[in-house]
Amino acid sequence: MGLFSRRKTVFVDSDILVVGGGMAGCGATYESRYWGRDLNIVCVEKANIERSGAVAQGLYAINCYMGMQWNENQPEDHVRYARNDLMGLVREDLGYDIARHVDSTVHKFDEWGLPMMKDPETGRYMREGKWQIMIHGESYKPIVAEAARKAATKVYNRIMITHLLMDETKPNRVGGAVGFNVRTGDYHVFRAKAVIVCAGGASHIFKPRAVGEGMGRTWYAPWSSASAYALPILAGAKMTQMENRIVLTRFKDGYGPVGAYFLHLKTYTENAYGKEYESTWYEHTKQLVGDYIDRHPVPTCLRNHAFLEEVKAGRGPIRMVTKEAFQDPHKETVGWENFLGMTIGQAVVWASQNIDPKLINPELTTSEPYVMGSHATCSGAWASGPEDYAPSEYQWGYNRMMTVDGLFGAGDTIGGTAHKFSSGSYTEGRIAAKAAVNYVNDLGKDGPRVSEDEYQALEQVIFQPMENYRIGRNEIVGGTVSPSYLLPLSGLQRLEKIMDEYVGGISSHYTTNDVLLGRGLELLGMLKEDLDHLGAEDLHQLQRAWELQHRTLASECVTQHTMFREETRWPGYYYRADHPKLDDTDWHCFTLSQYDRNTGEWAMEKAPVYHIVD
Ligand SMILES: Cc1cc2nc3c(=O)[nH]c(=O)nc-3n(C[C@H](O)[C@H](O)[C@H](O)COP(=O)(O)OP(=O)(O)OC[C@H]3O[C@@H](n4cnc5c(N)ncnc54)[C@H](O)[C@@H]3O)c2cc1C
Repeated sequence: MGLFSRRKTVFVDSDILVVGGGMAGCGATYESRYWGRDLNIVCVEKANIERSGAVAQGLYAINCYMGMQWNENQPEDHVRYARNDLMGLVREDLGYDIARHVDSTVHKFDEWGLPMMKDPETGRYMREGKWQIMIHGESYKPIVAEAARKAATKVYNRIMITHLLMDETKPNRVGGAVGFNVRTGDYHVFRAKAVIVCAGGASHIFKPRAVGEGMGRTWYAPWSSASAYALPILAGAKMTQMENRIVLTRFKDGYGPVGAYFLHLKTYTENAYGKEYESTWYEHTKQLVGDYIDRHPVPTCLRNHAFLEEVKAGRGPIRMVTKEAFQDPHKETVGWENFLGMTIGQAVVWASQNIDPKLINPELTTSEPYVMGSHATCSGAWASGPEDYAPSEYQWGYNRMMTVDGLFGAGDTIGGTAHKFSSGSYTEGRIAAKAAVNYVNDLGKDGPRVSEDEYQALEQVIFQPMENYRIGRNEIVGGTVSPSYLLPLSGLQRLEKIMDEYVGGISSHYTTNDVLLGRGLELLGMLKEDLDHLGAEDLHQLQRAWELQHRTLASECVTQHTMFREETRWPGYYYRADHPKLDDTDWHCFTLSQYDRNTGEWAMEKAPVYHIVD
């Protein structure tokens, strides 16, 4: 034991365990208390829920609000919108379920003191676009976290969950989770009747545009490390649409958001020579995807596609035309405030690169791919739908329960439901929590039991990288290089390179094929073998080690799905060069995977897409 002989094991029993205290996790914690007044509700977060998750820095807009009280939109409209944007493939039952409840979530945020911008004439929330409303959102996360803190029996901050525990009395039933405190090193065993995974999406599985010391400057939060996928995958839950990674068009280097610029400031894009370019690629895109290119609004991936083709044709960079809008002092203020409320880094980049958007049209870029379930993309776990709305094939238990009993999810964790964003993720957390409370109440005395053998074996596995380091450091051959361990950063760079070159990252123009994917899987397999030899110098590196484990498993899942779907459904997100066209005859379906942790094999299948809304 040496270094860690004083490590404590802390046991925590709960009825409902919420893993991850971001938007969905705060919603799940809050709502669990509402329906489960006497239940023991625990939320565990690897950072501090006060400022954790993708909303940590704040947001300038709530991107999912119907405005039903003013008849601005109805839930069916949102389903149509998300379906269109995802080229036909969304779980309409889940999306409808969120849309019908999301306004009540936003009204709670308003009540709790989130500063909402209001139209001075109508008194309605000020719209940035059809679905977005504007907020002064620097303190969005602390406001939402306060309600969760007050609702929880206890919030455990600074604990990274590494594995779910299974019930020893019943196969395919969850029994809790284990992890470690990233500050004290204590081992935590959480026993729970139901677990709601809300651990965010995945950045840094593909090589980012900024490397070296700029590596933390990506569009997506660098601390979103794929736990939302790896935890359920390891427990045997089915996953869906993991091939549907997202690529974002954003301001170059700072990844500042473009939504307010397009929608509110009415800025537009042009190529290096000041020309409109989207129409140039209309016929070409139509040949690939048919009439999806004629839909309104044009799907996000297809707008990326025109951008990428124009750059490949040598007419980059693409710029955002800000010079006109910024002549209006009000718009200029909004343009800057938009960054100050959520991406201060972009303002700093512009200042450091002598870019005054009133005088210069700033460059845009496309990001490396990310995996998430709540933005303009819908990767994640395959979940049971609402009792009153889901087709029978999408219902096998409680709402938002995965294919593992007692295991629920929300936000980026759940697949098939794009465009939930912050408010929809919170809403989905609430929906999952209500169902989890019902599940716990229905269990009665038939609760899960976790085996001592299981959590003791996991303790050994979890802390092994520190042991590897302790022994391996005696063999250091130069600097930090040891022949017997792999440092988490080196492993991460190796993962990103494999994904970038073989699975459709930036350096291959987001393009791959079956041969590349096959080789990518072989290389990922070799990486997985080497991860047994990860070395962690301290607790921070131990966290990095487990983040890498989660990212690698999620990456393997992405690669399997990309291999399985033999078409290019979302040009602009990625391309299967061997199947360059969208194929509605064979692939108007969901892709599902299931991992067998004993054999390491993946089983793939198709699931039907039901169009419930006209
Ligand atoms: C750059 C960016 C800009 C966005 N802009 C907007 C916008 O303008 N408007 C809008 O409405 N939405 C926006 N969104 C979307 C919104 O942020 C997400 O939809 C929402 O945060 C998803 O909620 P979540 O709970 O699934 O994930 P998160 O909010 O990211 O929370 C995940 C939580 O899980 C924790 N966690 C992760 N792994 C573990 C682990 N192993 N153990 C314990 N805890 C763990 C994390 O620390 C984090 O707190 C944006 C997202 C991004 C990335």
